[in-house]
This record gives sequence, C-alpha cells and structure tokens, in this order.
Amino acid sequence: MLDKYVKPDFFLDSFREVTPEFCRENGITALICDIDNTLVTYDDPEPTDEVTAWYGKLRAVGVKLSFVSNNEVERVLRFAEPLGVPAFPKSGKPSKRGVLMAMNAMGSGKDETVFLGDQLLTDVMSAKRAGIRAAVVPPIKDKTTLFFRAKRAIERPFMNKYKKEREIL
Ligand SMILES: [Mg+2]
Repeated sequence: MLDKYVKPDFFLDSFREVTPEFCRENGITALICDIDNTLVTYDDPEPTDEVTAWYGKLRAVGVKLSFVSNNEVERVLRFAEPLGVPAFPKSGKPSKRGVLMAMNAMGSGKDETVFLGDQLLTDVMSAKRAGIRAAVVPPIKDKTTLFFRAKRAIERPFMNKYKKEREIL
C-alpha cells in the first residue's frame, strides 16, 4: 500500500510549529528540511529573518538542522550557507539518498530525526524510505506549472483521506 510511503506522522500548519517544545515532546534532536515552499518561496534566495530566528531557537536547545532539496546546487548552498548547516542539493527525492547523507552529516539516528517538507510524493516518501518520521506543511506558495499542478492532483486524494482520518481520531 502506498500509505506506507506517503503518510506523514505530523500535520503542521507551518514550519513555525516545530518549536523546541515540539522537538522535546517528540524526541526530535535532528531536523531535515526541504527548502522551497516549506521554509520560503522559490523567490527567497536566502533565509528570511524569521527562518534564521526559528533555527536559532532550535539550535539553542541542541536540535540540529540540515537541508535536503531537489533544487540546484547554487540555490541550496546559498540558502544554507548563512545558517552554517549541511545541505544536499539535487537530492533526487523521493530517493532516500539525501536523507541518509543528511543523517550521516548530523550524526543522528533514525528515531530522533524528522523530515519537514511540503510534498507527499517527494519529501515524505524520501523520509519513509529512509525509515524516519515525516512532518508535512501546506506549501507556502504553489508553483503553477503543469508539472506541479499534476503532482498536487495526485497528492490530493491521499491528503484528503489523511485529513478525514484525523477528524475521526
Ligand atoms: Mg518543497
């Protein structure tokens, strides 16, 4: 069943909900983050002040951060550099490769690492293949190309089903 690969463990409204308290409650010491539409839009080449402050709070309590993105080397490294965290561009998500490299770079185990992203078919699937938990946020701003619209259309029934399940619980 595809659920095994695309069902997130956490549904959040925004990356802002990943707080030191959230991490402590869920035994999270390492966060692997998608960039585009998860933390910023495609139009933000560098971390916003809010993203920088958000990471500062996590770092203060020992939570590590890394980036795994399918975007280009230049974009991803430019975004990660000001924060000084490991970054893996062109990661080929839904491959688990980037996730495993990120965990290796952070020295984190599967049980303590969570992936934060906006897409079921790339972000969540890469996390699940690597055997870690995944949190999903609504995309900040959708790209409106045909390719992206098609991907969202494929995701929608899954997302609706998961939302319904949560209402029942
Ligand atoms: Mg994304």
